Amino acid sequence: MKADRMRQMRAALTPEFCGRLLLPGDGDYERRRTVWNAMVDRRPAAIAVCTSTLDVVRAVDAARAEGLPLSVRGGGHSVSGHALCDGGLTIDLSGMRRVTVRAGQGLVEAEGGCRLADLDPATAAHGLVVPAGTVSETGLGGLALGGGTGWLTRSYGLTCDNLVACEVVLADGRVVEASATERADLFWALRGGGGNFGIVTRFTLRAHRFGPGMLVAASLYGPEEAHEALAAYADLAPGLPRQIGWHASLKKRLPAYPFVPAERVGSPGLLLIAMWLGDAADPAAAQVRSLTQVGRPSAQECLVLPFADGVQRLMDAEFPDGQRYYTKAAHLRGLDEEAISETVRFWTEMPMGGEIVLLGLGGALRDVPEPDSAFSHRGCPWWLEFLLHWQDPRSDAPYVRQVREAVGRIGDCVAAGSYLNMRNADEGDDVRTLTEAYEGPEKYARLRQVKSRYDPGNTFRCNWNTPPADDPLSGARTRQPLPRAADQDKGDTCPS
Ligand code: FAD
Repeated sequence: MKADRMRQMRAALTPEFCGRLLLPGDGDYERRRTVWNAMVDRRPAAIAVCTSTLDVVRAVDAARAEGLPLSVRGGGHSVSGHALCDGGLTIDLSGMRRVTVRAGQGLVEAEGGCRLADLDPATAAHGLVVPAGTVSETGLGGLALGGGTGWLTRSYGLTCDNLVACEVVLADGRVVEASATERADLFWALRGGGGNFGIVTRFTLRAHRFGPGMLVAASLYGPEEAHEALAAYADLAPGLPRQIGWHASLKKRLPAYPFVPAERVGSPGLLLIAMWLGDAADPAAAQVRSLTQVGRPSAQECLVLPFADGVQRLMDAEFPDGQRYYTKAAHLRGLDEEAISETVRFWTEMPMGGEIVLLGLGGALRDVPEPDSAFSHRGCPWWLEFLLHWQDPRSDAPYVRQVREAVGRIGDCVAAGSYLNMRNADEGDDVRTLTEAYEGPEKYARLRQVKSRYDPGNTFRCNWNTPPADDPLSGARTRQPLPRAADQDKGDTCPS
């Protein structure tokens, strides 16, 4: 049976496919169907590990020929597990992680399966940086197509704002370029619209001079001092220049960061981390030092850390593969007493591991006019993110409920909208929430028009799906169940 299936898939892929085809039972299959979030337990019918754009074309053609749904795996970090589809063909881009830096032009070409750990060292070798996320194992593909926020956002914008061009494999197998001057509609949709429109096999990105060191100024607070410090943070952050990024992170267990005193590692703590997003030797960089004075910190430290090997890997150990993860994010229009109190209360009582992050936005994020990219809600001043984990599947339902209730209690500060890349499986792809994610019906309708043009059959639907404009299912989609515990039924599948 398996031999037949293998022959059939091999034939569909044609001899030109140079990657690896994995079926259930193959040695590497189990590893390749495992993603970052252990709550996701899906079994593709086959996994095609691609090594080139041509391999991707063959895999898309094969899925079509076999009538299989397909999913695309970049870094496998989406919390909702969209990299995998039950019973379908997973197109795994992990054999496509080459990075080419064109330093003279300030451009970087990164293949579609790159992780941030591939991108950052390659650019750092040339004194350059592409603004991206904060954990090095995250896939560039999912991150950039959904937006891409990170330490450098306030100075250099989102990852998608730094996209110059994309090479895309479309649903019909054509390979096309998208840029501001070529298929501008597709390029617009790729910047924030997710993996709905095709498989990006090459990202061309603008790079900026940066580093090698970053000036980081951190202050640490215990649970008793957290509220006062956050109130000062809420007050000061909106007035900072765009060369300063300032992040608040309420950690259940403080990690062994270079600026955390050894005796505090493992205990709960609030970290306010200020970063100078320019030359660490610039005298103006000293501004970040003063931010360590807010409230009553129990420890303060100013350091210059290597960016690619230091700052970009700082958080890696906190978010390893294989735990049960739940993220919940909210856009906040402000950060008032009630929001701070509820957040601190949940943090001090929460039984699970992880962190709650408050992110002051603004700066370069607002340089791009709202209609110019699919990414939306650029004017939102704050994001609140719960990034939580545990080991025991029996904790899934009660812990998820606790997190959702906590966000519900935040109150009037919560604004409409959500960030596609932080959405969890239980947030669904119903039209109302996705319309909100794209700041209203006009933009969502425009995305659906682009979808109709480039993927009329909704081949790329294993994602936060934007259906084609004439899809009769639109409006009828409902909330998906959470990926379930291993002892229950299999998790959600892609809409069929
Ligand atoms: P995958 O699960 O592989 O893919 C996710 C989606 O993207 C799928 O729908 C897939 O089809 C699509 N996709 C991936 N690659 C391609 C491609 N080349 N072409 C077409 N479609 C593709 N986000 C931020 O903005 N900033 C952060 O700092 C940040 N930190 C994070 C830290 C951790 C530990 C985690 C788990 C997530 C973080 N995220 C962050 C969210 C992250 O951006 C999303 O989870 C993103 O989807 C991950 O991309 P991936 O390629 O690893 O995911």
